[in-house]
Amino acid sequence: MGDQQILILGAPGAGKGTQSKRLAEEYDLEHVTTGDALRENRDMETEHGTPREYMEAGELVPDELVNEIVEEALSSADGYVLDGYPRNESQVEYLQRITDLDVVLHLEVSEETLVDRLAGRRVDPETGDNYHVEFDMPDDEEVRERLIQREDDQEETVRERLRVFEENTEPVIDHYEDHEGYVRIDGEQSPDEVWEEIKEAVDERTA
Ligand code: AMP
Repeated sequence: MGDQQILILGAPGAGKGTQSKRLAEEYDLEHVTTGDALRENRDMETEHGTPREYMEAGELVPDELVNEIVEEALSSADGYVLDGYPRNESQVEYLQRITDLDVVLHLEVSEETLVDRLAGRRVDPETGDNYHVEFDMPDDEEVRERLIQREDDQEETVRERLRVFEENTEPVIDHYEDHEGYVRIDGEQSPDEVWEEIKEAVDERTA
């Protein structure tokens, strides 16, 4: 297993999931993603209710719960790519207490592109791979037929998620701009172009 400690930042729809998967494969890292962990446990009863209630509204799930998920996942990983966390300043403080980061990747994408990507996004429930109704449908008919839309990718929820991002997560990005491993990447490029830049940035900072 690789030992690179990588954080990937960006708005919902910026391409964090797609690129994190590639990073995890290429460098043999643990892919730690709070969104997937919460989706898998969406009906778990907690003292704050279930994750589902927050996720369907496009709101953040309480810090206590996500902090615990991340701490547990990081404690069993050497190298990792952290995706979807931290999403507010209190999560930043928590993360700083439990680990250091070698590389901080920031995928930058305009709001207009984010709305188009999220509203057209479809997910393969078997592999977790993302597609898009206009730009990227799978060739395999069987896969095409089983694609689903995430409940929080409905347009109204998308708008709320982007608002929550701007309010809570933009300050997180401002915070990491001063990190020595910080790299800004133009996330409007094709997935392969974004990947090339990511690989170069990671190799430069961890070789
Ligand atoms: P994602 O798949 O990263 O877009 O996350 C989907 C949803 O899960 C978000 O809209 C939040 O409701 C919840 N979520 C994921 N990560 C976090 C986090 N770090 N803090 C709070 N809520 C989160």
